[in-house]
Amino acid sequence: MADQLIRATAADGGIRAVGVISNRLCEEARQRHKLSYVATAALGRTMSAGLLLASSMKRAESRVNIRIRGNGPMGGLMVDAGLDGTVRGYVDNPGVELPTNAQGKLDVGGAIGQDGYVYVIRDVGYGYPYSSTVELVSGEIGDDLTHYLATSEQTPSALFLGVFVDGNGVQAAGGLLIQILPKAASDPELVALLESRLSSLQGFTPLLQAGKTLPMIFEELLGDMGLEIFPETQLVRFHCGCSFDRVLGALKLLGEAELRDMIEKDNGAEATCHFCGEVYKANIDQLEQLIDELKTAN
Ligand SMILES: [Zn+2]
Repeated sequence: MADQLIRATAADGGIRAVGVISNRLCEEARQRHKLSYVATAALGRTMSAGLLLASSMKRAESRVNIRIRGNGPMGGLMVDAGLDGTVRGYVDNPGVELPTNAQGKLDVGGAIGQDGYVYVIRDVGYGYPYSSTVELVSGEIGDDLTHYLATSEQTPSALFLGVFVDGNGVQAAGGLLIQILPKAASDPELVALLESRLSSLQGFTPLLQAGKTLPMIFEELLGDMGLEIFPETQLVRFHCGCSFDRVLGALKLLGEAELRDMIEKDNGAEATCHFCGEVYKANIDQLEQLIDELKTAN
């Protein structure tokens, strides 16, 4: 199944549900950054969450950045996701591997650590972006972002994130966000029913591995609560906006002396994009060209 995002509502718009399947984009991130198993799970969960958080924004160019910093051996990670369905990201120490935790699962909480912060920035494309910081709850990412949504955005939310990765790569990945909007929050019976339904859910990847599609999962959880699934399926993908031209632009900012130094000492310049791992190389001729451009500009 292609990577995709599907939206739904229930209870006359009082419940908002979004689901995402992200196998391929998680696998692409794993390969690009040579991620360990636990780093694949950490980044994959956060990329799915970024797409789910961005999905409720209105303006086409809206983006969500999630930065997590913890005291564990993996350090932290960064994800940039857009309402347009593109996402990119990286982890600070991609090679860190840990034994599985007591539940036999990849120890994302141990890799990130329990002490640290989640920074979320919502940028609608103009004016000051909205940013907020909360402390980590467990470092497992789902808990941490649920806490963020409840405290910073005051929206009671259930967030399920999962990545199943083995020796052949990412086998299943995705996420589910269910939010209770103000008009439904005052209905205690509905909230209790939803909570009991969600508490019976044993994670998200087991559902995908059992062959369930997003509409089937929505149907099971919300089918008797006036579920309405939006007909549009949005495709989502790993995408980074970096380019050789941008790298040249950044090199040019270093100035003539620095560029001369690169020509003499390194026979060129090499830059790696943090977000996607793409390596860009500028040769001596290209650096000379930049110096010429600097001279003619002055
Ligand atoms: Zn890039």
